[in-house]
Parts: sequence; C-alpha cells; structure tokens
Amino acid sequence: MFEVTVSETQALASDSRSFTDAKKLAKQSAWRRLGRDGEAVWGVALGSKGDAYAVFARSAKDVRCSCPSRKTPCKHALALLLLVADHHPFPIEALPKGHRYE
Ligand SMILES: [Zn+2]
Repeated sequence: MFEVTVSETQALASDSRSFTDAKKLAKQSAWRRLGRDGEAVWGVALGSKGDAYAVFARSAKDVRCSCPSRKTPCKHALALLLLVADHHPFPIEALPKGHRYE
C-alpha cells in the first residue's frame, strides 16, 4: 500500500470545504466496503441519498471516484487518502468486479 500524510492530503484539496467534508467521511461507518489490492486501495463510499460511490487510489496523485462532483479530488477521494494516512486497516481484497472509477 502506498503512503500519504494528512498534510499531503490537505494540500491536494481544492478548497477547505472539501477537506472538512472529507474528514467527516474518514471513518469506517461512512464506507460500505474498503480493501487494498497491491499498492492500491479502494472503497465503496456511502452517499447522502443512499447511493454508493466507487473510490480508488493507486497513489495520492492517482485517485478516482465515481461520484458526480466536479472537484478533483472529491471529498470521497480525500477521505480515502485520510484513511490511508491514519493507517486504517484495509483488508486485502481484489478490486470488486464491474466497478467503474471514471
Ligand atoms: Zn466522490
């Protein structure tokens, strides 16, 4: 798994609101699933309307999310990086089939 710090994650945020929102999502209960696959980590983030977004990070600079946010990286992507920065346990699990990270 790659490494990233909280301050590096904060520096990637396009505005302070994104980072504030990401901090709220940087906890297990905000995610339906989390996993790591080699160097990459992935997660299924729960949206506010019961929807779920596929998030995938190969490094701090290569993070994708399926949500419609125009911010890059979005709060889900930042939250996934914060979980990595926090050394949150990610079970070893292959990327779910059929997940799109575009
Ligand atoms: Zn997102």
